[in-house]
Amino acid sequence: DVAARIIDGKAVSQKLRTELADEVAAFKQQTGVIPHLAVVLVGDDPASAVYVRSKSKGCEQAGMAGSQMTLPADTSQAQLLELVARLNADPQVHGILVQLPLPRQIDETVILDAIDPLKDVDGFHASNVGLLAQGRPRFVPCTPLGCQKLLLDAGIPTSGAHAVVIGRSEIVGKPMASLLVQKGAGGDATVTICHSRTKDLAAVVRTADIVVAAIGRPKFVTADMIKPGATVIDVGINRIETGLVGDVDYGPVSEIAGAITPVPGGVGPMTIAMLLANTLLAAKLQTQARR
Ligand code: NDP
Repeated sequence: DVAARIIDGKAVSQKLRTELADEVAAFKQQTGVIPHLAVVLVGDDPASAVYVRSKSKGCEQAGMAGSQMTLPADTSQAQLLELVARLNADPQVHGILVQLPLPRQIDETVILDAIDPLKDVDGFHASNVGLLAQGRPRFVPCTPLGCQKLLLDAGIPTSGAHAVVIGRSEIVGKPMASLLVQKGAGGDATVTICHSRTKDLAAVVRTADIVVAAIGRPKFVTADMIKPGATVIDVGINRIETGLVGDVDYGPVSEIAGAITPVPGGVGPMTIAMLLANTLLAAKLQTQARR
């Protein structure tokens, strides 16, 4: 058998980031506006701190401003709401990202609802979720958007394909399914969403032309679940004793699949690239709105 083609998310994200830097430069020249992403971190979770740093660094590399605000772990909901209100009102700030998860005393939904929908570069606000569901997306959540871009870049046909998304989170699974079912490029798929209550999940996945695994369980998707030649997109990031692994059992699956994303170096780098693209979009929308 032939080994699967490896979909190189690192290379694709580099290409997109280079293109984006050109767009940022053109936008700055036309408008004099510097797109600015404000990233808020509450607490000192080391993984979150790494993500937050790479997000603001990514902005700077693309010619945008990335500011980082770190609040103590015992910050109250009211205090965080106050910061969000301040960022909402700041015309210099175009994108606001509150890094999840938040400490227990803070209700994530309350915070996400408080972010100005025009600054909601994560795409988690109800109005952005609604616009995506209606097929007129504004800010699309970065991880599923990155998966769609990978499929498009790799020339994987989605139209008429059976796409099985494993996972129904608001951050990955659901918006991924919305994108795949949408009319047009990167969509037009027949979509099935699986989750922990799905009966005979393996049999469902075996019918998939495209599998998107967003489960959060190391090596959950095994070779026996994959139709020969299928495309496998692995969103999972799991830290185990031997290092970082995806939700897909990469070695054996790559001998059956037609194309596959590695972990790391697959979906992960795309997520940041999409965040940067959403930040430029936010700056464009707000600059338009003010004219
Ligand atoms: P969630 O925990 O929010 O959702 C996991 C989903 O998987 C749920 O819908 C759950 O079902 C389903 N699930 C869990 N166990 C099973 C099972 N045994 N059988 C079938 N379905 C199951 O995770 P996220 O969507 O936030 O993230 C998923 C993975 O992607 C994680 O590894 C995360 O680290 C990674 N991730 C990677 C990103 C990147 O940039 N590459 C960004 C975001 C996430 P149910 O709803 O029924 O509980």
